[in-house]
Amino acid sequence: MSIKVAVVTGSNKGIGLAIVRALCKQYQGDVYITARDVGRGQEAVKSLASEGLKTQFHQLDINDQESITTAAAYFKEKYGGVDVLINNAGIAFKAADTAPFAVQAEVTLKTNFFATRDMLTHFLPLIKAGGKGDFPGLRRTVCACKQLQLSVNHETVGGGTNQTVAGCHGRVVNVSSFVGARTLNNCDAALQQRFRSEDITEEELSGLMEQFVAQAKKGEHKKGGWPDSAYGTSKTGLTVLSMIHARRLSKERPSDGILVNACCPGWVRTDMAGDKAPKSPDEGAITPVYLALLPPGATEPHGKFVSDKEVQPW
Ligand code: NDP
Repeated sequence: MSIKVAVVTGSNKGIGLAIVRALCKQYQGDVYITARDVGRGQEAVKSLASEGLKTQFHQLDINDQESITTAAAYFKEKYGGVDVLINNAGIAFKAADTAPFAVQAEVTLKTNFFATRDMLTHFLPLIKAGGKGDFPGLRRTVCACKQLQLSVNHETVGGGTNQTVAGCHGRVVNVSSFVGARTLNNCDAALQQRFRSEDITEEELSGLMEQFVAQAKKGEHKKGGWPDSAYGTSKTGLTVLSMIHARRLSKERPSDGILVNACCPGWVRTDMAGDKAPKSPDEGAITPVYLALLPPGATEPHGKFVSDKEVQPW
């Protein structure tokens, strides 16, 4: 059996680091801290080592295409793909920040939506089949990925001509926010309809996110039906993107059992949210880790927005 691997973006601090800490305790496989800054990433590895937890590190700046493709190639080469991906990296301007809204819109959307989309473009094809309650000894043909010629590495158990995916774990978690859900309700009716529709495509969604930035730069986003929140819009986009990918995977890789969800960690004490938030980072990690470790054979949640381990209305 090949070693399983979990990768967490932006995990040198905050909720990402807490997710890695929890995975180290609960996940049977290698767990990767990734960070845009190598020094900060290695410090995080050391800090978890001082708690007796062993992690691996790989540099990953989600705003840098080359960094994404280098990391993707590394995981493909070393592990044959990725079992668990948690897209946690994100940014937010402080309420007191005086940067113009146009700048906040462009910078926030760049990381939280477009860079996370780029991560998914390169990593989704690497996500290994999740299995459907397969256990050694069982025989079942499940390897639709091969038909699609995706480079994933499956275990063959039980011999014969059929293949069994044993204990693989294809899970993708996008750390979004309750602010994205609130922002959805503050969009005009036409935008809300598109963001809730089952037929919106990644191209249409990206186009709408680009339109928000373009209109914000001209000070016309409110006229265009958008609310006054760059962070909220970026997270609305990320949640809708998660739903689009879930539908696409169900259609294109129906036998692979991969589950994709967006979630809110809650309001968590981190550099981003400040020290007044009620949850500790370890508490904020609970829902993302729950989604990352949905057991083999689970079929839901999939394509949902989840908070406190519960599917939320969208
Ligand atoms: P922090 O600011 O504490 O941590 C953010 C992490 O993302 C850091 O490791 C940061 O790295 C990393 N990051 C930012 N940009 C990039 C990039 N381009 N490439 C790689 N890593 C990057 O925030 P939180 O831990 O609070 O937030 C984690 C996630 O949770 C975010 O997506 C946030 O939007 C979401 N969230 C947080 C809530 C909260 O209450 N805290 C509430 C709802 C959602 P570096 O150290 O280099 O800056």
